[in-house]
Amino acid sequence: MRTRNILMSFAFIMLTLFLILIVASRTSEAGGISLSAPAGSGGPDNALGDISIPGVVQTPVPTQHPEVEKPDVDVTSWEFILANSEHNIGTYAPAQTVSIEGTAQYFDSRAIDALLSFLQGARDAGFSPYIMTSYINYSSQEYIFNGRASQIAWGGTYTYEQAVEIARTVTFYPGTSDHQTGLAVDITDKWYNSLSSANVDEDLLEWLREHCAEYGFILRYPSLKESVTGWDEPWHFRYVGTTAAEYIMERGLCLEEFLELYE
Ligand SMILES: [Zn+2]
Repeated sequence: MRTRNILMSFAFIMLTLFLILIVASRTSEAGGISLSAPAGSGGPDNALGDISIPGVVQTPVPTQHPEVEKPDVDVTSWEFILANSEHNIGTYAPAQTVSIEGTAQYFDSRAIDALLSFLQGARDAGFSPYIMTSYINYSSQEYIFNGRASQIAWGGTYTYEQAVEIARTVTFYPGTSDHQTGLAVDITDKWYNSLSSANVDEDLLEWLREHCAEYGFILRYPSLKESVTGWDEPWHFRYVGTTAAEYIMERGLCLEEFLELYE
């Protein structure tokens, strides 16, 4: 009998303690203590609901807009050099250029391995990529541009100054071409006398667009961004490194828009 009474009393005390604990947990919102949640485990998944833990500020984590997140890259590094009509890079030249597979086309030596992997990837997919144009140095660009302006002025319809303005719309002014960075390539399926969206093998261009980011390249002049870049070149790819390339290609940005995120 005595043992039974002790057990009954013990059970009663335990039940009372349990009830006190429940009440305490329900009324602990105003600075109470957490009874079972370890520090930092607050939030909607907490089994006891909204319990404040002293010293832990339970501010809801805001849902970040995907466009606000950006890769942790140093945009002042060489991979991100920007050449366009608003950012004339003057006589900039890559520190060292190397021949692409022994051809007369050259590329920045720091990114040559990425380019060779990109080309090999296209070959493994059954294509025969051909490099139409890669690095163009400042003086060559100047020569190309002046030749074009002279050609336009030659008929006598325009003054040379007018011809220069027209030439700016059909070819790159010296210092504004992505090709001068040494990180750009025009990839086609064969040699063309002149490039146009209509004549280059669409299957190859599609493969290049879909896979370029895996090798650190982006489509530098996407059709949809012509209003920003001024150009539409579905064959023109530019090295920026895989981290930035994946971000840019996933979102369909152009290099100008990407760099703006860091301003
Ligand atoms: Zn190009």
